[in-house]
Amino acid sequence: MASLEERYAQKFAKSVEWYQRGKSLFAGGVTHQTRFTSPFPAYFEHAEGPYKYDVDDNQIIDYVMGNGSLLMGHSPPEVTAAVSAQAQRGTHLGGATTHEVRYAEAVKRLMPSLERVRFTSSGTESTLLAMRLARAHSGKNKIVKFRGHFHGWHDYATPEGGQSLGGVPQAALDTIIVLPPDISEVNRVLSEDDDIAAVIVESNGAHYGTIPLQNPQFLQDLRDTTSRHGVVFIMDEVVTGFRLSPGGAHIRWDIEPDLATMAKIIAGGQPGAAVGGRADIMELMATRDDPEWDELHRVAQGGTFNAQPVTAAAGIATLEAIATKGINARADAMAQRLKDGLNEAFIRNEVTGHAHGIASITHVNLGADCGCDRGLCTMSFDEVYRTMPVQKTRAIRRANLVNGVDMMGGRAFLVSSAHDESVIDRTIDAFSQSLKDLRDEGAI
Ligand code: PLP
Repeated sequence: MASLEERYAQKFAKSVEWYQRGKSLFAGGVTHQTRFTSPFPAYFEHAEGPYKYDVDDNQIIDYVMGNGSLLMGHSPPEVTAAVSAQAQRGTHLGGATTHEVRYAEAVKRLMPSLERVRFTSSGTESTLLAMRLARAHSGKNKIVKFRGHFHGWHDYATPEGGQSLGGVPQAALDTIIVLPPDISEVNRVLSEDDDIAAVIVESNGAHYGTIPLQNPQFLQDLRDTTSRHGVVFIMDEVVTGFRLSPGGAHIRWDIEPDLATMAKIIAGGQPGAAVGGRADIMELMATRDDPEWDELHRVAQGGTFNAQPVTAAAGIATLEAIATKGINARADAMAQRLKDGLNEAFIRNEVTGHAHGIASITHVNLGADCGCDRGLCTMSFDEVYRTMPVQKTRAIRRANLVNGVDMMGGRAFLVSSAHDESVIDRTIDAFSQSLKDLRDEGAI
């Protein structure tokens, strides 16, 4: 029997040529740090619904789903129609547009507590802007973040966000305090340090909930603590926005952040993102007809493609569907079916591991079980990374690709409303086969 690596090389044979071409063009051969899979990435060409197709024309059930941006699957008809109609009517109108107003109204319909909204082009820009707003509002410099929480790749997001620090200035690192998700620690630091502008949190826990926060308690505690200390509370809803509920994590758990950052689903598969929140903080971006304020103190935000009409069209179509078509309920039910099936597969194959998750994200751990309720896993950060190191997650992702399924980072399934019962059941069978294959190779 050929090894998984040999089967992968056979199945994705044409991708090798593309990887060779990519290697001579891109640093490391890829255009996103997580797109590399050893021995080479599969190269995809098109997608529809729950499937994507590579250059060898393999049909792959997709759970990367645009890194979490495609809650309705690939190319849902209402979004595709809106995008192509707008593409023919102008992609950038070089001024204020009716699109941006309707887009912000669609956001506010689902997240009514956001008093003001500004659009950006990526989640990274949104967390950067939110931190800048918090500093301007408070007159303070430091930001508290949590260990393993990912907020994009700008300088202030890198410390302990699962990223290397090459090229990040020490001055930026000195303004970031990284804590464990322990409310007594947060309390202690906010009491002792008078230079803290904001606390930012990945709303469902480190790395899209791979290490879940025990919510809603933790978020509520953060809300209370930051309010008590007059520190801006930023909920990063880049992944959770419009996924954990139609309005995201803060609506699901009824917790009002001072600022929220959104990306991914908000833009319906186009590049787009937003920051929203308290009017008194957001208005720091407004011009005041006061040259000193405008030129020296105002919070600056540019961005050629902010709310560009094609993104706005995709975002509006997506958010309208979320508001009216039960998209979340459908995706959540499919994720539940997947989670149950994966947990049965672990038992059936006598492999130690478990699946957990809430809403439409299902996480897996191979190598450990913690007896959690399968919703909010209770394993510690160290235990998760000890039992699921990168070599292992790459092996898991590769095995699943050989068996026709693509996972997010070998750790999770981002389920959409386009995954139906039969697709989920085929996924469970494929995962079960991957467990056998990996066990046969001694990889788990
Ligand atoms: N915040 C979170 C929680 C994310 O998961 C991500 C990206 O995955 C970002 C911010 C950065 O978003 P973007 O990739 O759009 O820059």
